[in-house]
Amino acid sequence: MRPLNVLVSLLASLGMTAHVLASEPQVNWPLPRAIAPPPAIALPRDTPYPGTIRLDVDASDAARGIHRIHETVPVRGSRHLTLLFPQWIPGDPVPPNALDQLAGLAMSANGKPLRWRRDAVESAAFHVDVPAGAHAIDLDFQFLVPADQRIGPVLSTPTMMDLQWQSHTLYPAGYYTRRILVAPSLTLPKDWQFASSLTGARRAGNTVQFSTVSLETLVDSPVMASRWMRQFTLSDDPVPVRLDVAADSEAGLEIPGDIVDQYRRAVAQAYKLFGGRHFDHYDMMLWMSDSFGPSYFEQRRSDESALPAAFFSNRERYKRSFGNPFHGFVHSWNGLFRVPAAMWTANFNTPPQDSLLWVFEGLTVYWNEVLNARSGIASREEALGVLETEISDVVNRPGLQWRTLQDASDQVNIQRGNGSIFPEGRRQPWPDWQLNNDEPYEQGALIWLDIDTLIRQRSKGQRSLDDFARGFFGVRDGSLVAAPYTFDDLVAGLDAVLPFDWKTFLLARVDSVGIKTDLDGIDRGGYRLVWSEDQSPTQRTRESRRGTADLRFSVGMTVAKDGSVTEVAWGSPAWNAGLVIGAKIVSINGRPFEAAEIKSAVADARPGDVLELRVARGSTEQQLSVALVGGLRYPHLERVQDAPGLLDDILEARH
Ligand SMILES: [Zn+2]
Repeated sequence: MRPLNVLVSLLASLGMTAHVLASEPQVNWPLPRAIAPPPAIALPRDTPYPGTIRLDVDASDAARGIHRIHETVPVRGSRHLTLLFPQWIPGDPVPPNALDQLAGLAMSANGKPLRWRRDAVESAAFHVDVPAGAHAIDLDFQFLVPADQRIGPVLSTPTMMDLQWQSHTLYPAGYYTRRILVAPSLTLPKDWQFASSLTGARRAGNTVQFSTVSLETLVDSPVMASRWMRQFTLSDDPVPVRLDVAADSEAGLEIPGDIVDQYRRAVAQAYKLFGGRHFDHYDMMLWMSDSFGPSYFEQRRSDESALPAAFFSNRERYKRSFGNPFHGFVHSWNGLFRVPAAMWTANFNTPPQDSLLWVFEGLTVYWNEVLNARSGIASREEALGVLETEISDVVNRPGLQWRTLQDASDQVNIQRGNGSIFPEGRRQPWPDWQLNNDEPYEQGALIWLDIDTLIRQRSKGQRSLDDFARGFFGVRDGSLVAAPYTFDDLVAGLDAVLPFDWKTFLLARVDSVGIKTDLDGIDRGGYRLVWSEDQSPTQRTRESRRGTADLRFSVGMTVAKDGSVTEVAWGSPAWNAGLVIGAKIVSINGRPFEAAEIKSAVADARPGDVLELRVARGSTEQQLSVALVGGLRYPHLERVQDAPGLLDDILEARH
């Protein structure tokens, strides 16, 4: 040890550092010391909670979104109770539940008020001492639902409501949620109807008492309620699948008969795909309103979709996202019944680990699209159009040079509220370089197309991903209990369909740096990605709907009608020139900016041509020269003549 090191280690042993010595004057007062964190909250144990919690939710003031909750939590001999507000909900890997909407919390025992204290570290935990002789703690609080989407999801209005139990309950720490029993009741506004996957409903006036269930089942069973509701039967065989529709008016409940038939065929095709099912009945719930939502959630026995009022009546609107409700239906198998083991949690305050999100979401996106085509919800051309759009969104992902799809799955936990799932959340400055929550969905779906076509090719058409659906997701028919799986289980499940080195195959696509978007499934499917200067009708529609010129694949940016740059591709000509999101183009090649002219300025460009842009950044202006590499460019899926049409086969209805 050299003399200086001796000094450093001497100072370190005294709790001082060389940095302090070097930059601070000699001090005689004590240096700050970290104090120990508060005691950890009890981990959930697989043991029954003694007694049944009574939970009464009064949502009669749905119009203002003020939901009043009274809850009685039995206590047997314990002197201290820690109550948790649910944060992480199965099937919902991204956002924590809205803790800041809980208000008015008061606790009492035998009519005497009790002081509670929030945990200093876990904000969703509340501590209270139980007085001697008390058999229960009474809780009163409100859940305040935003009335404006700028504040948060609008799930309660004068005409409709999505009652999610996880926002209306506090539950004792230390127990698996499946071991906590709850007797729930719900008071509705006068004359409202309701639907739910909960059973045993008894209605007296406006109050509905449901059968006692575990907290796990309760949170899995939201209640749709509305002044105007209608129910369609999508299947009766072997168990009921219902389409529940709520609307702002009676007229809003209309769904064209041909669409209901398509939905019925989609349920039938899902049954053919998976074989077994893991619900005793299922409620597909649709809220049709322009002032409701956003709400897209899925449970084992129901799913929730908030849709525009004109979703079904305006075919143009419908075609944009026709198959959305079936995303949640596929999740009943992929994500809720078969759940990634690290994503399954024993209670609602344990963060899930999302490492297999590329299966959870990617395979759901893939099968959602397959079912759309097989049921006729989408024609083959429309299904291919959706695929083409998806590919064009992710084909150029320079971020794959430094991040893996695995990493984009792992990061969802810490990046909540970002990306396009929750548009009100923080956006990224350079999405294609940073990668976001979309990757597990869209890149994931392309990997599953790769796998499906590979199985079909290597087995000479004898086997397909449909066999994997039955063998991995359709097992234990009728079971209502989740069946967690690991990456190794997944590999074994694929191997049972077709012996192959799936582990190497998957790791190369999911956990390798420096790869490109996986288009092998497209090529093997009998199609190829080609580029042309013309836009497809889908691309034109999308562009006019968004009100932006799509120059992502030529200049490397998208531009709004007022000249604002809304997207810049990392490493593109626009990026090289210094453009950023938020810059506003004032003039092009010396002429004032006109939305209609930006494309023609690029249309006939040759490599080496320069686009001179005058750009405003706040009160300053810049002159930027964009060195073009050519004219307009758009991606298209094109059928390869004479190649086997595996993709066409995949999209074909099963009989
Ligand atoms: Zn999903």
